[in-house]
Amino acid sequence: MRRVAGLLLAVLASAGPAAAAGSRVELYPATPAPGEVFRVRVDAEQPVSVRFGGREFDLWPADGGGWEGLVAVDRDARAGEADAVVVGRDGRPLGTAPVPVRAREYPVQRLTVSEKLVTLSAEDRARADREAVRIRAALASRTPRRLWTGPFSLPVDAPVSSPFGTRRYYNGKRRGYHSGLDLAAPRGTPVAAPAAGRVVLVGDFFYTGNTVFVDHGHGLVTAYFHLDAVSVSEGDRVETGQELGRVGSTGRSTGPHLHWGVYLSGRKADPLSLVRATAGPAVGGGGP
Ligand SMILES: [Zn+2]
Repeated sequence: MRRVAGLLLAVLASAGPAAAAGSRVELYPATPAPGEVFRVRVDAEQPVSVRFGGREFDLWPADGGGWEGLVAVDRDARAGEADAVVVGRDGRPLGTAPVPVRAREYPVQRLTVSEKLVTLSAEDRARADREAVRIRAALASRTPRRLWTGPFSLPVDAPVSSPFGTRRYYNGKRRGYHSGLDLAAPRGTPVAAPAAGRVVLVGDFFYTGNTVFVDHGHGLVTAYFHLDAVSVSEGDRVETGQELGRVGSTGRSTGPHLHWGVYLSGRKADPLSLVRATAGPAVGGGGP
């Protein structure tokens, strides 16, 4: 990617000394890994988004001046330096900044389950396909404003039973990777909205059981799977801490737990990295 002359883009570890005249991009954390969310702060002339790894991530005005946004590294990205392109109003690049992507090893898990859950009947396949269309539409939500403030917190206070990103083999067949974070809370535990947003999809789905998707604005959507009961309806505005439902084991689940999913511009990301990126120190003086 060509670097735009006259535009100084420096990457700082955190709120560091003021950069020289020109524009700059700061990252928090400074070295994100594949599958992780990082926060950017951009000082440039009216930037609107950051293009990274083939997707576009919105920017919004930061509290302390400048612009800010959340970006996700693809789970299957390689470690090494990758360019983030700052995009201006008319879609033209304002400059690029190198993002040092550090290595992260994801575990492999081999599961043996009932064969009918691996090889679906025609009827179940048709149902799962119909549901996937609705889920994709929810993940494509692009509310052009930020509906949340403050850090994201865990929706239930429980230990992790399965981390994000684990590559899974079902009965020896390679499937996708684990798309969220499993929290081992008992059945009936209230699930709290980790931040404010708007409920964009509620359903009872083949794979994910009773499910809630919350749109937080600017392409950030969170998901709650396998719920025993749902406490909200599509279109509801929810505040931080509001009950979304109760932990259960509906859909393709082997026992009560909460599966928490995080999607940024449709890209799956490790929910723990969202908690870290939004809880970290203000970048360059601007809070989230
Ligand atoms: Zn899960």
